[in-house]
Amino acid sequence: MKYLFGPVPSRRLGISLGVDLVPHKVCSLNCIYCEVGRTTNLTIERKEYVPIDEVLEELNDYLAQKPDLDFVTFSGQGEPTLNSGLGKIINFIKDNYPQYQIAVITNGTLFWDSQVREDVLRADVLLPSLDAVSKMTFLKLNRPDKELKIDQIIQGLIELRKEFTGKIYLEIFFVPQMNDTESELAKLKEIAGKIKPELIQLNTLDRPGTESRVKPLSRKRLEEIAEFFKPLPVEIISKPETRKQINSFNQDISEQILETVSRRPSTDKDLSDILNLHLNELNKYLSELIADGKIEAVKQKRGLFFKIRDQGNNSTN
Ligand code: SF4
Repeated sequence: MKYLFGPVPSRRLGISLGVDLVPHKVCSLNCIYCEVGRTTNLTIERKEYVPIDEVLEELNDYLAQKPDLDFVTFSGQGEPTLNSGLGKIINFIKDNYPQYQIAVITNGTLFWDSQVREDVLRADVLLPSLDAVSKMTFLKLNRPDKELKIDQIIQGLIELRKEFTGKIYLEIFFVPQMNDTESELAKLKEIAGKIKPELIQLNTLDRPGTESRVKPLSRKRLEEIAEFFKPLPVEIISKPETRKQINSFNQDISEQILETVSRRPSTDKDLSDILNLHLNELNKYLSELIADGKIEAVKQKRGLFFKIRDQGNNSTN
């Protein structure tokens, strides 16, 4: 599969088939904590970064087999709303496979554009991010395309809420001493109250990010922040649940491991959960892929993470 990946058990969406609408790494941001590597095409230009007809064909072939899924989720290696064909694909799924829910995981930077808001109208769940409200924090943390203005992004999210009738889960990704200061938290809470998401989800790093200097926020601090956000609906995002029965995996396990770690560096436990494979069995594949020079292991606080072998730049992805 070229544009589809998984299905994977996701933190927020159960069993989810991923659809990747932009190549690595097209994004309107270049976040310092990004788990899929540095942005190489920093842009707000919308176009068919991958051919929509090919995506539709792949989706049609896959969904016609009636796979056991909770969601079809647009996410992956960059920002999905940058693909100008997003609305066409969402409409295709809703018209032909209405039994599947649709989610869009987005950095939320383009909803000031009414066409982007219209494109996602038939989705069931939108998961936009908003990590900063003040200009300086936004620039330092998210390193945006130069055309993007944080006030405009916030206004776009408020407009989206007025038009979109599905659920909005607003994610805030915390990096210590960047956006967990008292003043930033107060502004984030005020703006989140205006966006009125069904849920505010607090997140921090649990895999290697783009910059090795970026560290996770402690669980204790996340809990303090969750308290601060109340009475707004807030939760700390937990780890993915193990799903014992997923019927529709790729047969080729090595390929599946490569697909997974190319999108997100993962521990052997993560991979074992995602692939529903015993750790001992999985380790044979990992050893082979390391011996072949295709992946490498990187030590982090939460354990050993496997990722695509570095191509010689300073990125940890
Ligand atoms: S974290 Fe998301 S929004 Fe930020 S650079 Fe990575 S892909 Fe883009």
